Amino acid sequence: MAKVSVENVGVQARGGVANALCPDNRAPPAPPPKRARFLYAGVVLISPRMLLDRIRHPRSRADDLAALRARFRATPSRLSASESQRAMATRLRELRVLLSEAFASVEACHGCAKGHPLPSGRWDGGHCCGGKTLDIWSPEEVFALKLAGVSATSLAPPAGDHAGCAFRGPTGCSLTAADRPSICVRYVCFELRAELKETPEWKRISALAREIRETQTALARTMSPE
Ligand code: SF4
Repeated sequence: MAKVSVENVGVQARGGVANALCPDNRAPPAPPPKRARFLYAGVVLISPRMLLDRIRHPRSRADDLAALRARFRATPSRLSASESQRAMATRLRELRVLLSEAFASVEACHGCAKGHPLPSGRWDGGHCCGGKTLDIWSPEEVFALKLAGVSATSLAPPAGDHAGCAFRGPTGCSLTAADRPSICVRYVCFELRAELKETPEWKRISALAREIRETQTALARTMSPE
C-alpha cells in the first residue's frame, strides 16, 4: 500500500502544492469534489485491516493497533538478527512464561485499579495496564518480541472498551505471557511485592525478574540507532 501522510493529503486537498508553485497570484485550482476526496481518503489511507479494526473496536484502539503494526514493520526481522540476538530474544520469551506461571495465583492484580480515574479505573484490576500502548510496547520491547517470532498480526485484542493498553480488557490481558512485552510480566508494584515478599516463591520470582531485566537491557544495547 502506498504510504501517503495525512499532512500531504491535506495539502493536496486544499490545493496547497499548486499554490506554492504558482508564480503569480492567479486563483488556485478548484479542489476535487467532496466525494472524490472521501474515496481518496477511504481507498489510499485506510488499509482493509484498519477498516476492520475501526468496525470492531473503538477508534482509539484501532489507531493504537495501526501504530503498533507500523512499529513492528519498522523493526528488523528475525532473519536479519545475529545468533546471539535471537538467543536472547528466545530466552526472554521462555522467562516471560516462567515468571507468569510463578505469578499465577496472586491476588493483588485483581483489584489494584478500583476507584482510580480513567483509563486505569475502567476495570478493577490491571492498574499497570492503564498506560499508553506505544509507551508499553516500546521499540526495544517490539524488537525482542519480533526476534522471538511474535508478529503484529497474531496479537488479538479484546472486544469492548479501550482503557489504556490496546490489549487490556474486562478480564485482563488478551495475550499469552510469551507474546507480551517483558515489562508487563516482570513489573512488581508495591501491592504485589507486599503480597509476595514473605512467600517461598519470592526468591525465585526475584531471580527471574532480574534475569529478564538484564537480558532485555543487553538485547536493547545491540539495537542499531534509528
Ligand atoms: S500487553 Fe497485556 S499485560 Fe501488557 S500492558 Fe497490555 S494489557 Fe497489560
